[in-house]
Amino acid sequence: MPHFARGKGLRATFNPHSLIIAVSIILAAAVVGLGAVALLQMRRDAIEHASEASSNLALTLERSITRNLQIYELSIHGVMDAVQDVQLMALAPSVRQRLLFDWSMNAEDMGSLLVTDAHGNLVLDSRVWPPRPMNVADRDYFQVPLSSVNAGVFVSRPFQPHLTEENMSIAISRRLSAPDGSFAGIVVGSLRLTYFRKLFDGMSLGPGGTLTLLRTDGTIIMRRPYEDGSIGRDISHSSSFAPLLQGENGTFFGVAALDGVPRLYSFRRTPGYPLIIVVGLSVYDVLAPWRTRTWLFSALIAAVDVLIIALSVQLSRQWRRRMDMERHLVLMVNTDGLTGLGSRRALDDAADVEWRRARRHGQSFSLLMLDVDYFKQFNDRYGHLAGDDALASVADCIQRHIRRPGDFAGRYGGEEFAILLPNTDAAGAAAVAEAIRAAVQKLHIKNDDSAFGELTISVGLVTDVPDAGCNRTFGELRAFLRAGDEALYQAKRAGRNCVASLGATAMPVATT
Ligand code: GH3
Ligand code: MG
Ligand code: MG
Repeated sequence: MPHFARGKGLRATFNPHSLIIAVSIILAAAVVGLGAVALLQMRRDAIEHASEASSNLALTLERSITRNLQIYELSIHGVMDAVQDVQLMALAPSVRQRLLFDWSMNAEDMGSLLVTDAHGNLVLDSRVWPPRPMNVADRDYFQVPLSSVNAGVFVSRPFQPHLTEENMSIAISRRLSAPDGSFAGIVVGSLRLTYFRKLFDGMSLGPGGTLTLLRTDGTIIMRRPYEDGSIGRDISHSSSFAPLLQGENGTFFGVAALDGVPRLYSFRRTPGYPLIIVVGLSVYDVLAPWRTRTWLFSALIAAVDVLIIALSVQLSRQWRRRMDMERHLVLMVNTDGLTGLGSRRALDDAADVEWRRARRHGQSFSLLMLDVDYFKQFNDRYGHLAGDDALASVADCIQRHIRRPGDFAGRYGGEEFAILLPNTDAAGAAAVAEAIRAAVQKLHIKNDDSAFGELTISVGLVTDVPDAGCNRTFGELRAFLRAGDEALYQAKRAGRNCVASLGATAMPVATT
């Protein structure tokens, strides 16, 4: 009694190869993206820290310079007050000299403190009495207070002092006015630039860092690094000078006028004096630790990405191998090794699927059950191997006559085969059955134990047909299969080598 087990049908296989590759590419890109964002943030942080450090440095320098200039200015004020004190000026020169200047001689980096008359001739000199014969009328620190009543404190351009071999200096001068307001001369103190140099030396900058003290007209008073020719140079026309005039303090990126190096600049004006202190940190120095981190980070990101890609390729390969193996197994399970037709299992599955489909669509469904006649004798006479070859030849005949896409042939067991013919009525199925039967006989495989003298098959045919009210001949698949078996039995009883349909008389034996 045939029984086709309820099958699950062939599962649609999903190959996630492209998905694995796509996910790994997205992951790798995400790692690169995150790394880039982190590095950009680190870069921003580095610049922010450098900008804080440079503006703190500018503030420290500005405070120190302003305090020192205020002290010098106090000395100048002291002398201004003193020269207007008639009693003090009437003292013996040696005493007056000591009272006026002794303390200033001790001030570090202070040069001479001088008082001139309205023509620029020295009238008092902190160094010596009587004053050295000198006229300073051509100097800017004389000219500016002379021409401007409200000049206030004037800071000169750097200059080489006339009278000594001293280092370059700047002068701080104030106008002396007569009681009627007319110009009466100047009080001027010189300050050696070594003061600024010592101050600058104490600051730690990167190798590409600069410190610059400028007058607001763009004249450099001191610059570290200390290159020949930079002191006294006018940089008012350079692009990095204009931003310095934008406010009391600030930070900006610029390219140095003197060496063309891109720097982060912080500047501060000295309150009360026409000076600007500028701290420049080389962008290259500022970003040096960041660059090192970037290399390490990039190497890490590259390693992670390579790992991700390698793992995904490996995973995808394994998946593909697994799928191939699965496909191979499915093929093995569903194919009969000897005949190449569907296996018993595939037959069961296909019968179940086609039975349901026929019901759903209200179509006819035919089944052919085939059995080789006198095969036991054939085996006994010609041997098992010849029997196998004969079965393969019969299968080949079956295969050649199964042409429609839904048709399915399988080895039911031993020398029995079943053919499913969906959407095929009894007449169509009988034609197929007869064609196969005739084709097998046409093989002319000798079988002396058969009444036909050659190898033949018997075929049982059964068709499940829906009527107008959609009632079916068979209530369930089991009954349908049992009917197929019964039809085959009828064909055997009718003498073999024929096609029999259930309830019909077996078709006459066709011999060639
Ligand atoms: P009938 O005409 O009534 O069908 O007689 P039969 O001899 O063909 O039927 P029976 O079922 O008695 O014998 C079937 C034989 O088929 C038994 C076995 O020797 C043979 N057989 C079954 N499977 C194979 C196989 O895979 N290879 C070979 N060589 N023989 C097989
Ligand atoms: Mg049999
Ligand atoms: Mg048989």
